[in-house]
Order: sequence, then structure tokens, then C-alpha cells
Amino acid sequence: MLVLLLLLLRSGEKEEDRPAGPAAASLSVPELRTYTTRDTVHRGDNLRGLLFRNHLDLRAISGVLGSIRANDYFDPHDIRPGQVLEFTRGEAGELLEVVCRIAPERIYVFAFEPGRDSIASFTRAVDSEVRVRKLAGSVLSTFEEALIAAGGVPRLALEVSDIFSGDIDFFTEVRRGDAFSLLVEERYVDGAFSDYGEILYGWYRGEEAEAVCVYYRPAGGKGGHYDLEGGSLKRTFLRSPLNYRRISSTYAKRRFHPILKKYRPHHGVDYAAPTGTPVVSTADGKVTFAGWKGGYGRLVEIRHSPTHSTRYGHLSRLAKGIRTGIRVEQGQKVGYVGATGMATGPHLHYEVRVDDHPIDPLRMKNVPAEPIPSGQLADYQRLAREMVEIDRDLVAGALLGPSTWESILLAQAAPLDSVETVD
Ligand SMILES: [Zn+2]
Repeated sequence: MLVLLLLLLRSGEKEEDRPAGPAAASLSVPELRTYTTRDTVHRGDNLRGLLFRNHLDLRAISGVLGSIRANDYFDPHDIRPGQVLEFTRGEAGELLEVVCRIAPERIYVFAFEPGRDSIASFTRAVDSEVRVRKLAGSVLSTFEEALIAAGGVPRLALEVSDIFSGDIDFFTEVRRGDAFSLLVEERYVDGAFSDYGEILYGWYRGEEAEAVCVYYRPAGGKGGHYDLEGGSLKRTFLRSPLNYRRISSTYAKRRFHPILKKYRPHHGVDYAAPTGTPVVSTADGKVTFAGWKGGYGRLVEIRHSPTHSTRYGHLSRLAKGIRTGIRVEQGQKVGYVGATGMATGPHLHYEVRVDDHPIDPLRMKNVPAEPIPSGQLADYQRLAREMVEIDRDLVAGALLGPSTWESILLAQAAPLDSVETVD
């Protein structure tokens, strides 16, 4: 939240840096025809060569480089692939302006006065703005496809799967007809979309799984996602030992992700998945067994607490460094799906044990991590209510106006009593 506020404040400041106020605009100046070309920095480029290939003469090149040096703007050797330079020319092709977009927050402008050798240079803050868009829809086949159809990108699906990793297994619990909605920050730089920010609010409602999240940054703490009551969405156990992000990156180069299925034939869950699919520890813990064990084939057993442990069976191989006695973190790769031991085909046998007796992992009570501190709970719940309302009122695909968004943030920043005395 604080970052947002800073961004908004910063985008307000830049107005002062800008030359040419309203007074200049009111003069009737004959319209000057100019055209602008853009060039992108490629690997191996240097600034001098880049200016040269954009037809700057030697005098102009040394003017720009000299101005960068004299003002100590940046190191000309520090340009990186993907950065953009813009060249504006007048009707006769004379160079008027070179703009270097080589930093996320500042641009460098070099203005040439026609008929003169001197150049004027200045920097200004990039006109950056954060807006909020609603991405919503329903699932036809996979969640990722549905999110892309709603206007999102694959990376957002990974983020959603991380946020809901304690509640939803996006490989086996997604069903046709499930519905979802997200309020996502979009960053704009000089009016053009540049990147996604936080997922501020979201819900998923399906036949097999359901979850809601609200993004909140407790005072002095790190931002995170919470449920509507203020409980953390970070759980002691992941919903599934087949992690969506891990599998997506493993199969990223293939056209299709594997179709996973889960079965519950006994005291555990069997996940049918291709040999080599990564398997992760569902919680922090210590490896108590890593090797061959009868019908389990190649097995990893992890102890998470004096009472709880998990088993991962039929593995084709162990992940690098996994052996008895080492500590593992939630989401850490422990091995790969296989068909070792008593298995008719490649699948993962996953077992959660309490006091050494297997329980049904899908019915396990999953303890959330740190909730919102009680002193900030009222503040949080007000934000959560606001999010629910915004989501309900916005049409899918719509962009929330910056003024609405700003007022929400200001209400967040102001102490409770001053908000209530406003009207
Ligand atoms: Zn099994």
C-alpha cells in the first residue's frame, strides 16, 4: 500500500519538472511537423555506435556524450539491452531531440537548437501511474487459459497459484465452469502499460475448491495475502505436493502441460503424472528417510512436527542434495515422479501421517501462518469490504479510475477518526 502511495505522490511531483506550462500552450505557434523514431539497445551496443547508426553526425554525438559527462547523468557504458532511445527530427530532417529511456524512473532529454552548436539537456521523472484492472471469467479447460482469455498473462496464473497454494491445487481441482475474479495493479509509464504489480484482491469459486485473497501490508511489515477475516493465506501445508509453478517451469518449453489426476484409493492420495514431474515438500521439515522402502519404491519421508510427517513414494529419483537428516523448506523439490516399487504406472503416492497413522490429506485441518495484528484488523477489514464492493461493481476487463483508487489509499493512510469526520 505504501509503495502505491509513494508512486502516486511521485507521479504528482513530476509536473513541476516539466518545461512548457499552460502559458506556453496559449501562444498561437504555427504547428511544427516533427517525426520520432525509436531504437532499442541490443546486446553489444555502445551509446556512441547507437547514436551513429541513428544518423547523428559526429558533432551531435560528441554533444550528447559531453552533456552526459558534464552533468554526470549516467555512465554511457551502462546501457542495457531492451532500453529505448528516441530521435525527433523536424520537417527538413534536422535533429531536434534525443530522449534516452534508460532508467525506470527518469528520462534524459537532449534538445538541439537548429542552426546552433549548443545542446540543452534536462531530465524528468517518468510519468508513471498505477491503475487497477478487473480480470474475471470462467474456466473452460485450464485456469491459465481462462485467465489469458480474460486479458491476463501466464505469469499472473503462477502468482495466483502461489497465493492459493494452501487451498487450491490448480492441476487437479479446476473444473469447467469454475469462476474467478482478480483486481490487479497495472503500471503505466508515460501512458503505456509496462508491467503488473500486486494482485490486490481475488477469488476463485469452483466445484472442488474455493478461496479469497486480499493484499495487505501491515504497518512495518511485509505485504501479503489474507482471507476476508484477516487470516494469512500462507498455510503450514501446501494443498498439493505437485506445485503448479514448479511443473509449469519444468514443462514450459512444451506446448502442453501434463494433465494430472488424483485418486484416493487408500490412506493417501495418488497423483497420476508423467515420470520426471517435480515433487515438492508440502511443509518445512527434516528428511527422516530418503531411499528404497518395499512397495513405496524410492521414498522420501519428512517430519514437520513431533506429530506430523509426510511421505512421497514411487519416485524415479531424488532431488539433488536430498538425504536423511537435512532440512527442507515448504515448496522445495525433493524428487521426481516415477513408478518404482509397487506401481503399475508413473504416479506419486502422497501420504500425511499424524502420530504415524496415515490421515486423509485433503481433509486435513491446515493451520494458517501469522494473521493480521489485532491492532490493524479493523483497518484491514474496512479495506477488505471495499475490495469486495469494487469487485462487485466493476465489469470484467474494466479499469478502476485513478481518482477512486487514490481515495481508497488516502482513506487507508488516514487515522480512523479523521476518516469518519470527513462528511
Ligand atoms: Zn498410493
